[in-house]
Amino acid sequence: MAQLDTREKLEILADAAKYDASCASSGTAKRNSKDGKGLGSTEGMGICHAYAPDGRCISLLKILLTNSCIFDCHYCINRKSSNVRRARFTAKEVVDLTIAFYKRNYIEGLFLSSGIIASSNYTMEQMVEVARSLREDHHFRGYIHLKTIPDADPELVHQAGLYADRLSINVELPTAGGLKRLAPEKDGVRIETAMSEVKASIVDGKDAKAKYKSAPRYAPAGQSTQMIVGADAATDGDIVKKASTLYDRFGLRRVYYSAFSPIPDASAVLPLQRPPLMREHRLYQSDWLMRFYEFQPHEVVAAADDATGMLPLDIDPKLAWALKFRGSFPVDVNRAPREMLLRVPGLGVKAVNGILASRRWRRLHLADVARLTVSVAKLRPFIIAEDWRPVVLSDTADLRPLIAPKPRPKQMEMFA
Ligand code: SF4
Repeated sequence: MAQLDTREKLEILADAAKYDASCASSGTAKRNSKDGKGLGSTEGMGICHAYAPDGRCISLLKILLTNSCIFDCHYCINRKSSNVRRARFTAKEVVDLTIAFYKRNYIEGLFLSSGIIASSNYTMEQMVEVARSLREDHHFRGYIHLKTIPDADPELVHQAGLYADRLSINVELPTAGGLKRLAPEKDGVRIETAMSEVKASIVDGKDAKAKYKSAPRYAPAGQSTQMIVGADAATDGDIVKKASTLYDRFGLRRVYYSAFSPIPDASAVLPLQRPPLMREHRLYQSDWLMRFYEFQPHEVVAAADDATGMLPLDIDPKLAWALKFRGSFPVDVNRAPREMLLRVPGLGVKAVNGILASRRWRRLHLADVARLTVSVAKLRPFIIAEDWRPVVLSDTADLRPLIAPKPRPKQMEMFA
């Protein structure tokens, strides 16, 4: 490997990290250094600047330890057979960069992932060393997210959770067949076992903390995972089912969806075209429906097209569900239970809470509902209020063109 200076390594390894979507810092424990002890904070906003050029995660220094890898996953630009420029940081270089960037207020924390060098254990040891040194040598109290190596010794993964706020293990592809075909060296069972071990450690850590104040924290921001969308034949229905299973089995904080991007010198087994970015967006919306809108996975799957299993791209999945199950509407805002109000297109969780609170005192008119929402136009065919009943609208055979958002002019992609 050619000798590179830190700036060149940073250029390569920050760019290589842009394919990792799972870097939100929400949900961790509150920690700061206002008492003059230590350094950093997981609270507040600070001044944060984007470093990676993908624009997805601007508050963390998001880098790979190395983009060299002994594996050859077809969809990955860093795979063994890829003809990319390689670079590698030492653990100390990552620590020094994180501290230097933090002190300049460029970042709030670190997101560290890596290709696998020498062995899974060796790579994991290096990543743990970064987190250990930040916490123990520099008393860094900012956010740390480590992408763990599922094949690594469980003890190393456990240590990672003692230093990091969040751990993640990529499930990579939604189906076992896709993983076997596109990442033949990865083992789906091993990935899920590692997720299960992390879950057990998180639960044990919480129990210990509840009993003993001095017990160490273990990954207080939980664990997350990432699925690549569009690299294999999995449908949106497959992806939604897989995500729901992962939430249930491993208590994940988030499943991230990353639209597959064609890479230079791509393997012939990959599609030539990237899926529309809107597909990724629709999957995030369906994820939101399951996590905050009390939708069951089978209901989200039912919103997809019966023949293709794909969610529509031109309307959101909640509206798609409502249009497909028109018999469930209109919903009376003065009587309907919370779960039905949450199914009304255009009514968010905050608006539903507002409706439930207000109707304890008086009967709601359409104008009352309008005050709680951005636009009442989308709602009108789906609700009944004291002075409103959508007789004509709810009987309209093809409602979709009347309420679907108008297509926007095609936008140029910033990072195409
Ligand atoms: S193990 Fe990770 S870095 Fe290595 S080729 Fe596979 S996806 Fe890429």
